[in-house]
Amino acid sequence: MKFLFLQHGWTADSFLAAIESKLGYKLDPAAPEQLPASIHRDHLGVIPQKQPGLFTIGASVIRGRITPAQIRVAADLAEHHGDGHLRATLMQNLLLINIPESRVTSVVQELAANGLPVETNAFVRGTVACTGSEFCKLALTETKSYARWLTEQLEDRFPGYQEDIKLHITGCPNSCGQHWIADIGIEGKKIKHEGKMVDAYYFCVGGSVGQFAAIARPVGYRCPADEVPNAITRLLAPLKPNSRYATSPPIASPTPSRTAHDKSPRNQHCRCATT
Ligand code: SF4
Repeated sequence: MKFLFLQHGWTADSFLAAIESKLGYKLDPAAPEQLPASIHRDHLGVIPQKQPGLFTIGASVIRGRITPAQIRVAADLAEHHGDGHLRATLMQNLLLINIPESRVTSVVQELAANGLPVETNAFVRGTVACTGSEFCKLALTETKSYARWLTEQLEDRFPGYQEDIKLHITGCPNSCGQHWIADIGIEGKKIKHEGKMVDAYYFCVGGSVGQFAAIARPVGYRCPADEVPNAITRLLAPLKPNSRYATSPPIASPTPSRTAHDKSPRNQHCRCATT
């Protein structure tokens, strides 16, 4: 279900009822799930499987854009070292499964050499971008190249940033990039800037998934796309006192009331209630 539907009054239950009514039969309930505390459900890294001696390798596909050459490399590696299976994840990454332990190192090295790193910086790991204006006729902004530029900017400003962060970029209110469940979600807009209409982004902060699930809060701040790195820097720098950007003021918010999100243990340092 799209987040936009939630805003239109749908709930999980009413959505399920509508699907079942269309299908004409009841769906089996999902298996019970222990919700993880981690905000990342991207399976990045080398993960032992239940089957002894076998591993899943999760490689990062930066901004979800993969080239034909890269997918061929991944397919060859899956075939030569695993059982030929590749899986794509919701977080726009790639999994190679059933890799024997003895092959893990060479698969990891080969993936990294072809631009599919298993370890990435926090911004690359947490960034998701929807299709954007390149291929989506509903888009107000270009998102994919922009996501690469934005993560480079942030990595440059916060080298070695280690905190878990989800940064979701979506090119219009439809929210295919799921900006409502990101720590920082930015929604594409057009605004007039210096006499010209330019790509811009509207900020929502404090969304999360897992145990501390929360819908992000629109903070009433928008800026030209070029200014987004500065705005995020002002938001994050006070949390990183040693950063060279630490003296910048945070972005302003017109919504001072506290929500369940603010009280969640995971968000205790989140500034969305105070900025
Ligand atoms: S969020 Fe909007 S711009 Fe992005 S893919 Fe969906 S419809 Fe297109």
